[in-house]
Amino acid sequence: MIAVVGGGQLARMMQQAAIGLDVGLRLLAEGRDVSAARVVRDPLVGDHRDLSALREAAQGCAVLTFDHEHVPTELLRTLEAEGVACRPGPDALVHAQDKAVMRARLVELGIPCPRHAVVADAAALDAFADSVDGYPVVVKTTRGGYDGKGVWVVGSAVEAADALSATSATVELLVEEKVEFVRELAALAVRSPSGQQAAYPVVESVQRGGTCVEVTAPAPGLDPDLAVHAQWIAMRIADELDVTGVLAVELFETPDGRVLVNELAMRPHNTGHWSIDGAVTSQFENHLRAVLDLPLGDPSARAPWTVMVNILGGTVGRLHDGYPHVLARDPGVRIHLYGKSVQPGRKVGHVTVYGTDLADVRARARHAAHWFDGSLGDHSE
Ligand code: ADP
Repeated sequence: MIAVVGGGQLARMMQQAAIGLDVGLRLLAEGRDVSAARVVRDPLVGDHRDLSALREAAQGCAVLTFDHEHVPTELLRTLEAEGVACRPGPDALVHAQDKAVMRARLVELGIPCPRHAVVADAAALDAFADSVDGYPVVVKTTRGGYDGKGVWVVGSAVEAADALSATSATVELLVEEKVEFVRELAALAVRSPSGQQAAYPVVESVQRGGTCVEVTAPAPGLDPDLAVHAQWIAMRIADELDVTGVLAVELFETPDGRVLVNELAMRPHNTGHWSIDGAVTSQFENHLRAVLDLPLGDPSARAPWTVMVNILGGTVGRLHDGYPHVLARDPGVRIHLYGKSVQPGRKVGHVTVYGTDLADVRARARHAAHWFDGSLGDHSE
């Protein structure tokens, strides 16, 4: 049995992989109706900040792993002292929880990052902007951000003062140069406690408003040396931080052919969803194998191109209404709905198409996702 903290779509897709391996999941979910609680047997309902709920989830399980990175590290330390194997452990996980800690460690390791500083007031922010050739700069809360929440582009000293007065005085802010990237990439590595690693092909991800909308595997036209370098960065970080399970490294590709690390996630990641249908072993199966310290599966792609498009909540309330059209039009589309209620912009599912012609694969994946979300018109009547 594996205990999984958090009942989102990542835990739901772990369940799918767990079935094939005949591994049981014990879920600690936020509520009875959340995405994973609809598919995992006998979920516990409780809070991830409640030690007794975490203890109950871990009871009798070989290991404890996560759907999100929000479990306080001090609770994980207590669990570890009580003999629970937390994978990843608190010393690794803190780098996915706190962007300032992550930046400091990566700099120590010599991993290329955007220029940055931790600032407490508008004067410090302004001084940083001066040191990187001026505004705009990117301001981030060090903790608690996701899908672009907690990230602002700040265009002037006046905006900087506004941004600082809008955040609570206790929040620490990270300020970064605004990278003029060519595109965003992601490198996913999976690492087991005994140190085996598997690296997935480096992908291109497209973000809109801070949310991932589309992923192409492998990243089209990426220089093979840069791809290997990005995989090496992910594997090096996984080793140095002693990450167990999936590590996703979000990267910026710069016009002069370098990559800079944007951020880290230590759990299956949206940029790896393509692997369910498009790789020999999915990120979810490899995450489970890794946390159990079993040999990892082959991360290679099955086809020259795989495109994953997220279904974001739009105008259509009942996603299943999209089935007659999508399924009839294209029997090659792979569909994953997360069992979540539709809210604007919320990730409620994804589709994947793979094949040999990138333009064709991409067009088909986009059509299916946009039919579901209603951006091709509301077809629910
Ligand atoms: P989150 O924790 O919400 O995922 P990120 O740090 O990944 O936040 O930032 C969200 C998005 O904002 C990124 O995917 C990227 O598009 C943009 N972004 C973040 N940092 C920078 C930066 N230093 N320069 C340019 N764009 C950035």
